[in-house]
Amino acid sequence: MRTIYVCIGCAANYLPPESMTYPTLGLTASTAHCTKPGCAAAVREAVAMSGLPEEKLGELARRAVGLEGEPRRPRQNKRAARGRRAAASPGGGRGKLR
Ligand SMILES: [Zn+2]
Repeated sequence: MRTIYVCIGCAANYLPPESMTYPTLGLTASTAHCTKPGCAAAVREAVAMSGLPEEKLGELARRAVGLEGEPRRPRQNKRAARGRRAAASPGGGRGKLR
């Protein structure tokens, strides 16, 4: 399966060629930004500010939107959704005497 990337500059999803190059444009595809000039600049700035490599920032962006890593799960406990605490599990409480 090919990887779908998220642009850090404009939040667009993009699918670069598998070769990671755009021969007609003479550009190399990035894992962190689309081909808009402003987005490349935004990522350069993000790299400078965070000290993280471009690839890592791209990965974090993909995780943030759910394209990479564990799929987001809906809330499972309906009681919690109504604003009540779930029943305590045996030995799971944090009492003052412990
Ligand atoms: Zn972009």
